[in-house]
Amino acid sequence: MWKRLILWIQQLFTRLLGKKTPYSTPNGPPIGDAQEMPADTVVVVINEAEVIDSDVDHPPLGPDIGPEAVRPPQPLPIRQPRYMWCLDNGHGKLSQGKRSPLFDDGQTRLFEYEFNRDVVQRIAQRLQEEGVAFFEVMPEVEQVGNALEERVRRANELVTDLSKLFVSVHANAAPAASPEAWCDPAISGIETWFYHNSAKGKKLAAIFQRHLVRATGWKNRHIKSQPQRQFYVLKKTHMPAILTENGFYNNKQQARELIKDEVRQKIAEAHVQAILEVERLGL
Ligand SMILES: [Zn+2]
Repeated sequence: MWKRLILWIQQLFTRLLGKKTPYSTPNGPPIGDAQEMPADTVVVVINEAEVIDSDVDHPPLGPDIGPEAVRPPQPLPIRQPRYMWCLDNGHGKLSQGKRSPLFDDGQTRLFEYEFNRDVVQRIAQRLQEEGVAFFEVMPEVEQVGNALEERVRRANELVTDLSKLFVSVHANAAPAASPEAWCDPAISGIETWFYHNSAKGKKLAAIFQRHLVRATGWKNRHIKSQPQRQFYVLKKTHMPAILTENGFYNNKQQARELIKDEVRQKIAEAHVQAILEVERLGL
């Protein structure tokens, strides 16, 4: 009982300080961002289609709206940016773990930080073309780890006349027998996290989840939040914030997809379409 309590307190402080939890070292099994939390953490899973339907302040969308019945993107360019999109790539080259087992060629791995950065770069390039305002929270590549406090500080201290929104881009991992073992192939798909009880965060997460699932055709793991032990960047940013988990890098079949240029572009474009929807309709 006491042991368990002490471990819980240690883990709580570790999370608050933005460091790795003791059970996600490079020698341990690859563990996803959410799975770093203690096993008894309560996770609330919500079908994003219900969020859209139940939001009274959202424009009417017709009776058949849902993941499969999405309003077509409108071709109008963004003339007047409405928001400042803080784009976060989640991890750095120094982040521990966060890599796939070796592929069959015996030398290739998928590193989550590299995937996150590539997708954020692709998003940024498209937002530039669309006239959307954005800020890359951590563009540096070398000598960067998770640096959660720094990511949050940069977003919070950014001065802009626009309302700020925070989007952290990730790939997921499921528990596996060892760092060199692929996870259960049944575990795959997309989920989007938001700060618990944030109405705007929930709505933002629902919009991104809908676009991501539609664009990739991957399994819908829905939008998620939890009342305790929340993601640091969701908890500490002073703005509506979400975290997208775009497939599992330690699912062998999904990792093969995540290394492809066209799949990364598709994932980036889904983020862009979600952003354009929010720019046009507001949050
Ligand atoms: Zn991550």
